[in-house]
Amino acid sequence: MDHFQYRNGRLMAEDVALEDIAAAVGTPAYVYSTATLLRHFKLFDEALSGMPHMVCFAMKSLSNIAILKLLAAEGAGMDVVSGGEYARARAAGVPGDRIVFSGVGKTREEMRMALEGGIRQFNVESEPEMRALSEVAVSLGQVAPITVRVNPDVDARTHAKIATGKSENKFGIPIARAREVYAEAAALPGLKVVGIDVHIGSQLTELAPFEAAYRKVADLTEALRADGHVIERLDLGGGLGIPYTRSNEVPPLPTDYGALIRRTVGHLGCEVEIEPGRLISGNAGILLSRVIYVKNGEGRDFLILDGAMNDLIRPAMYDAWHDIVPVREPGAGAETRPYDIVGPICESGDTFAKGREMPAMAEGDLVAFRSAGAYGAVMASEYNSRALVPELLVHGDQFAVIRARPTFDEMIARDTLPPWL
Ligand SMILES: *Cc1c(COP(=O)(O)O)cnc(C)c1O
Repeated sequence: MDHFQYRNGRLMAEDVALEDIAAAVGTPAYVYSTATLLRHFKLFDEALSGMPHMVCFAMKSLSNIAILKLLAAEGAGMDVVSGGEYARARAAGVPGDRIVFSGVGKTREEMRMALEGGIRQFNVESEPEMRALSEVAVSLGQVAPITVRVNPDVDARTHAKIATGKSENKFGIPIARAREVYAEAAALPGLKVVGIDVHIGSQLTELAPFEAAYRKVADLTEALRADGHVIERLDLGGGLGIPYTRSNEVPPLPTDYGALIRRTVGHLGCEVEIEPGRLISGNAGILLSRVIYVKNGEGRDFLILDGAMNDLIRPAMYDAWHDIVPVREPGAGAETRPYDIVGPICESGDTFAKGREMPAMAEGDLVAFRSAGAYGAVMASEYNSRALVPELLVHGDQFAVIRARPTFDEMIARDTLPPWL
């Protein structure tokens, strides 16, 4: 459920008409709903109620400081994957002891930054990383809390570019070698083992792969404890999928997912961490865009929008589907026709949808890409020197710009000339 619904013929974000936002700030623009973000965060929090837990928002899905601040105020921790994300989380007021650091390529500088600024744990993904972290921690006179990310060799049955839990993926260490790696971790100075980490992929629409992975983690917990390690935290990753279209099967709900967690690891007495990104942010955002031209091509009509692949790359990158709906509600029984919906960028890949049935559209009409809150704005670029797409947050009947569209002068001023030119 989200808070982008038609009211009196106009698509609203909570109590604000998207037409009013377009008139105030122009298009394209991302618009997020506070109520939807909070609702989704709370669903996870409640799904794990009664067991010690922390919901660490995977901020790579949506990392605007305003969003982080909003979620942190509700008690969210953060899952960060770079020094930049760590800095953003801290800038949003998230304390270090609510930040977990994931990623296969943490640099020594990033490790130092997190150790000095405070960190809940590093999710270590390889032995070389573990040795580097040991050195950095010792050099700072600190002890780094760690989990080791294990790769359970489970097929997440999702798009290949976002599957992370098979043995051929670059993530984690093979679960079969975990005991050996934990033995080395225990022997290295400057490290303290606190638990186990797993994350098998993104946009999972079934629970079975999670169940397979978490059962393996439960077995590993017992084996590592028998080896003398203290395993008090299980970081179970993120990845629960969302419905991108209403005609699709509905993915499992956070409550079902919570029940699965209790069933598979609840008996171990561990604190559970989860790292949902998309399910919190995905349906909490839309991309608002305007039709520049309707072009009648040979055998097809093109809707040419002012939004493009640089603003929302998911269709080009993951063949992703987004529902694209008119902001003016079509009348009941309005006829539809197929459109190829494209942006203005000079690449054929700048295509959002082919043969998409829409009511008749005209120049100047507004459309909304639904479910664009996750992996939308964070992947935007200025390709074709198009200004970075702005972001807005709606709260009831108020809205605010939370990242302004840069002017061309601001964009140009970021470049600097070498002294010889
Ligand atoms: C991307 C990622 C997540 C979040 O995945 P979602 O599908 O957005 O829930 C969580 N943990 C790690 C380690 C990730 O890389």
